[in-house]
Amino acid sequence: MSSGKITVVISQAPGKNPAKRALEENLAASLLMESGIELSIVPHLYDLGPDHTGRLFLESIQGDMVVLAWLFPRAAYWLLDRDGIGGTEGQSPLHPLAPKDEDEDEEPTVKAPGIGSAIGGPNRTIWCLDLRDHAGHQVYLEEIRRISAEVTLLRQARQAQKQANQPVAIITLGLPPQKAAPEFTPENLLEAPGRRWYPVIDYSRCTNCLECLDFCLFGVYGVDGLDRILVENQDSCKKGCPACSRVCPEQAIIFPDYKSPAIAGAPVGNISGLKIDLSKLFGGEDAMVVAAKERDRELVRDGREAVGQTVGIARRQANKPSGPKDDLDSLLDTLDSLDI
Ligand code: SF4
Ligand code: SF4
Repeated sequence: MSSGKITVVISQAPGKNPAKRALEENLAASLLMESGIELSIVPHLYDLGPDHTGRLFLESIQGDMVVLAWLFPRAAYWLLDRDGIGGTEGQSPLHPLAPKDEDEDEEPTVKAPGIGSAIGGPNRTIWCLDLRDHAGHQVYLEEIRRISAEVTLLRQARQAQKQANQPVAIITLGLPPQKAAPEFTPENLLEAPGRRWYPVIDYSRCTNCLECLDFCLFGVYGVDGLDRILVENQDSCKKGCPACSRVCPEQAIIFPDYKSPAIAGAPVGNISGLKIDLSKLFGGEDAMVVAAKERDRELVRDGREAVGQTVGIARRQANKPSGPKDDLDSLLDTLDSLDI
């Protein structure tokens, strides 16, 4: 038996782009006609501070949910996770897992696993869909219908598992009782937040090397009680600067609103598929040089001394060539500087 509705959240694009608003509105209008769906609209996820009603609403959702945002799914998923909105990441054919690199060995590569989410979270699935992938709303509608059918099966499986684990005398009534949600009016939910800028860590990739902690001189990073890296002071990060994402050896640091897909949370395998050394083609600089310059710029703006590459430049950098991520970033930075 299917239990309850699935929550679908549309996260609005920042700004007032008419095409983006039209897609959001068309999708919302279609979803309102669908049965089994609880629809809500919140402002841009990345901008929601801890006290924003939209964030409190998201925190109050207990069951499976679909989040449609103008963000890469990897960025949206880890953004939610860091906000304490956890669950298993749902896979969607709209954003398949990163394809295997053609040049990769057939043998599975030995890669240190990320440290994983520390927040646990309820037994539910969160699907994040990128609204930039398709111009029309129909494809999202069909995917939400597919997910809704998948959720029905998932809930049946959970129910069966729960019944198998419980004494027969206990009567189960479907999903665990949900926390009474506070009242969320559309006006409160959609109250425009200010723009924000901070790193988001993908803990499925992060190996806790702490190089970002060494590199950032602005007190953004810290560690938890188990010495695991975390973004401790989000709002101390310098707006528009993505320097530490260039330093992270695992491409685990995401700035969801940055112009380069590599830094904004594109699937890492897709970026690795870019074989041409674009940075050299366009005369770009090594990622470490770029990162040090970006950090110096912010230090000087703060009235501090520039340090160049003398402080916190990662231990791994000595013998490691810049990866494709760096190339793509360099290309975009170079194109920006050329004003093409
Ligand atoms: S540099 Fe990257 S991998 Fe290392 S602790 Fe920071 S986020 Fe994790
Ligand atoms: S972008 Fe700069 S200020 Fe922000 S966390 Fe990274 S190094 Fe620190």
